[in-house]
Amino acid sequence: MPPSSKEVLDTINSAERYLKEQLDLFGNVLHADASRRSGTAPQPMPGEPWVASQTLDDLNRDICTCLKCPLGQTRTKFVFGVGNPKAGVMFIGEAPGADEDAKGEPFVGRAGQLLNKIIEAVELRREEVYICNILKCRPPNNRDPQPSEMETCTPYLAKQIELVGPKFIICLGRISAQWLLQTNASLTSLRGKVHEYRGARMIVTYHPAALLRNPNWKRPAWDDMKMFKELYDSSKT
Ligand code: URA
Repeated sequence: MPPSSKEVLDTINSAERYLKEQLDLFGNVLHADASRRSGTAPQPMPGEPWVASQTLDDLNRDICTCLKCPLGQTRTKFVFGVGNPKAGVMFIGEAPGADEDAKGEPFVGRAGQLLNKIIEAVELRREEVYICNILKCRPPNNRDPQPSEMETCTPYLAKQIELVGPKFIICLGRISAQWLLQTNASLTSLRGKVHEYRGARMIVTYHPAALLRNPNWKRPAWDDMKMFKELYDSSKT
């Protein structure tokens, strides 16, 4: 008997779900060997005033009119970052979405609500941590950030990390993790380890938006956060 149209639709839907999950975990961008890439490491830009910023407010003031990549033309607001300027932990996402672009603050939409819960689950408050993204401007239609955009924006993130000086970085999702660590390794293989990034201990976990799409990942995400909490608590004693 040929399959019913419902069976065909169910099969297509589960195939689509499976492919989206694989994309969240593995991505579709190949990162070249970091040692052979030009320009990936934040370049010194001696002529630009923001390089010498002493505070986050100064840095924000000096970069918020940036037009170095085309996203500067289409953004509503520049989304610098928010939180404790001397936070012990920094959460790094990908790029602002529509809500963030409208408000000028990272993680304020649905994914942001979930991030707040994740932060509270490890007995911290949003105001205690620092939250930012690799890109400071929204990619149109919420498309993935392009490597050239991340390359242009990463020096700003590096300066934020230098000024905040977090002991820990929590990298949210495959795109930020693969970019910052310059690897093609899957999200699965990057989780559960402590990486080093710009003097901080970096832990990789799922992006909150991916958790909204795949609630079955909430349990492993909680494992990541428990690992972070143990390390964070023991770093204070
Ligand atoms: N997703 C991100 O990566 N960052 C935000 O600020 C919002 C959604």
